Amino acid sequence: MPAQHADIIIIGAGIAGAGLAAMVADERGVIILEAEDHPGYHSTGRSAAVLIQNYGNATIRALTRISRTYLEQPPEALTDHSLLHRRGCLFTATENNGDNVRELLKEAEGLTAVTPDEALRLIPALKPDAVYMAAYEATAADIDVAALHQGWLRMAKRSGAQLHIRERVTSIKHTNHLWHLETDSNAYSAPVIVNAAGAWADTVACMAGVKPVGIVPKRRSIAILPEPSSYNVSEWPMFGNVNDTWYCKPETGRLLVSPADEDPVEPMDAYVDDLVLAEGLHRFEQAVNFPVSRIEGSWAGLRSFTPDNTPVAGFSPDAEGFFWLAGQGGYGIQTAPAISELAASMLTSNVQRHLYTSPIITALSPKRF
Ligand SMILES: Cc1cc2nc3c(=O)[nH]c(=O)nc-3n(C[C@H](O)[C@H](O)[C@H](O)COP(=O)(O)OP(=O)(O)OC[C@H]3O[C@@H](n4cnc5c(N)ncnc54)[C@H](O)[C@@H]3O)c2cc1C
Repeated sequence: MPAQHADIIIIGAGIAGAGLAAMVADERGVIILEAEDHPGYHSTGRSAAVLIQNYGNATIRALTRISRTYLEQPPEALTDHSLLHRRGCLFTATENNGDNVRELLKEAEGLTAVTPDEALRLIPALKPDAVYMAAYEATAADIDVAALHQGWLRMAKRSGAQLHIRERVTSIKHTNHLWHLETDSNAYSAPVIVNAAGAWADTVACMAGVKPVGIVPKRRSIAILPEPSSYNVSEWPMFGNVNDTWYCKPETGRLLVSPADEDPVEPMDAYVDDLVLAEGLHRFEQAVNFPVSRIEGSWAGLRSFTPDNTPVAGFSPDAEGFFWLAGQGGYGIQTAPAISELAASMLTSNVQRHLYTSPIITALSPKRF
């Protein structure tokens, strides 16, 4: 069958593939291939949907800072309203891990120490002995992930990009400066392919004969709990143990609680490990003054990390026209605008010099592996 041709083929229509497509499609012919029935089925549709500035390493924080501006004032072509809703985030420590709050405060931005009394005023359901020390990031925000993701896909389509769902790429070959891709029913070709396959990024690289970078998908689970009686949780900030042993966030009148699990798994349609969830909810129960009596729902998703916990974005040093856009870990939504812009500028060579010389470009480069 004749191959469908594009300037750039993006493999994966999660937030990474969608963001890049939106930013590159007005200058290049783009086809996005997505294995599932609907884009966002994997990590993008399973996130906690928050932006926390004081989270991740220095590169993640720089990308988050840039992305925040975009999310607060997105371009008209995307939407006419802010994609952030102020939430706040309270980091707590028990007597055993107060040092971790001190450590976090040292290198923090927009984070203030709060007394245990102030912390209990923010979250009256916390047990006093769960709050030996605390710090508060007032500008942490909920992200409207669906509006961002769908908005980017719409932008890309308006600029001529084609999104093909139920098209799992099963074969990738490179001949005569062109990549040839096959799915079960179609063939495609392009001089440039973008690996935005999330947890499957190394699988896609291997399929293309490109050296994998060592991406490890790690499962993270979430439970939805009913609103505890005698509390109105809607205006609570997000809160969690500074050591990332659990966190909790109000979610449309209910509570989203995560055990903050990070178990390495194979790339897959992730599902909850009941024992891990139960243990995490037990840790949460020890910090709050109400019992977990019912779970209304739960899910798990994959957070995929490179060996240095920094995303990988850029052309592979060992394969012409193979572009990496993966390894966003637990920060792929809050960093997506900045990473998409950088990736788009690298792909179109429409690069402002300051971006190329930026240490961020070096930090994201696949050459480091
Ligand atoms: C529980 C949880 C909470 C999180 N909370 C936050 C948060 O609060 N804030 C934040 O910023 N981030 C958060 N994250 C991280 C964020 O969700 C991810 O970093 C981000 O969604 C990754 O996007 P992606 O597009 O790379 O991956 P995905 O959304 O997984 O997209 C990759 C796509 O590639 C497709 N694909 C794979 N192989 C092929 C193939 N061979 N052919 C065609 N298509 C293929 C897949 O079907 C998939 O749709 C969280 C993640 C989890 C799991």
